[in-house]
Amino acid sequence: MKDTYHREINYLRISVTDRCNLRCIYCMPPEGVQWIPHEEILNLEEIEAVVKAAALVGVKKVRLTGGEPLLRKGLDDLVRNIARIPAIDDISLTTNGLLLPYCVKALKEAGLNRVNISLDTLRKDRFREITRNGSLDDVWRGIDVAFEYGLTPVKLNTVVIRGFNDDEVVAIAGLTLKRPLHIRFIELMPIGPSNSWTTGRFVPAEEIMSRINDQLGQLVPAKISAGNGPAQYYRLKDAPGTIGFITSMTEHFCRSCNRLRLTATGSLRPCLYDGLEVDLKTPLREGVGINEIADLILSAVALKPDRHHMLDGWQDKRAMSQIGG
Ligand code: SAM
Ligand code: SF4
Repeated sequence: MKDTYHREINYLRISVTDRCNLRCIYCMPPEGVQWIPHEEILNLEEIEAVVKAAALVGVKKVRLTGGEPLLRKGLDDLVRNIARIPAIDDISLTTNGLLLPYCVKALKEAGLNRVNISLDTLRKDRFREITRNGSLDDVWRGIDVAFEYGLTPVKLNTVVIRGFNDDEVVAIAGLTLKRPLHIRFIELMPIGPSNSWTTGRFVPAEEIMSRINDQLGQLVPAKISAGNGPAQYYRLKDAPGTIGFITSMTEHFCRSCNRLRLTATGSLRPCLYDGLEVDLKTPLREGVGINEIADLILSAVALKPDRHHMLDGWQDKRAMSQIGG
């Protein structure tokens, strides 16, 4: 399906839960967020119905995210049921990786294709600080099992924060020299309730890139085998892995945006940064059919703005974990 600006929309990101086992400083306020009551969250059958409807109107790729998606009970059943929808050819997951060793086998057997794992630092003390008490060793175990079970290409998401982990960008980029890891440096976005925390901590991708160029050698443009997404990818000489930059703030990539988001509470959000949402939960619970849901999805696509206006301020008071990152 095409939107008003002739962009092909074929990718659905689904927040399967607002809950999380970490409290990353850029994602959640120190006191945490109030979890949404279970009955307000879409159940697995409802999520599957939305994917079936989305597949009818051209969605081919699905990403499961959250909150922390691995906390959602029955996630492997959901993956299995989505994998049975013929039009869907790629199912991926964005996770903090902590619980991956416990569920990787079931998810792989269910049909999960690949994972993105968030990793902002290589230092254990700093990891505890950024996540407010997570264990870095657990993330590495998650990364290792992702390779072991072939959930590749394995991508790592690194949010760069000035005065916090920006001194590690070269070391993190250096990981790609040793393993086929695909690092994606993400510009910090001033969103959610932690919004005020981000002031002065923003690092533009250009600065990260020039530090890598200076210390590890010239980056050359590269392509990876699956899901190029909004990142622009590069490679260091002879490196098995790649380095990508997600320039949400300095160079918006809205021109090539192909995505829709489904929030945990069942609203379709045409753009992460724009408040517009189309409620699918109410019609689903009133018993409408897949074709009517497909029509609502088309109406959400028609609302997709040409570009985000994040620099004008973020109005939504919800955390990234509640909307679905
Ligand atoms: N819990 C999972 C995880 O951490 O990978 C999935 C959900 S999380 C909200 C998805 C991604 O959003 C993570 O890579 C996280 O680093 C990123 N994120 C959260 N808040 C952000 C912010 N303010 N700016 C940029 N990225 C952010
Ligand atoms: Fe949880 Fe992911 Fe947000 Fe960190 S970034 S608090 S792991 S949802």
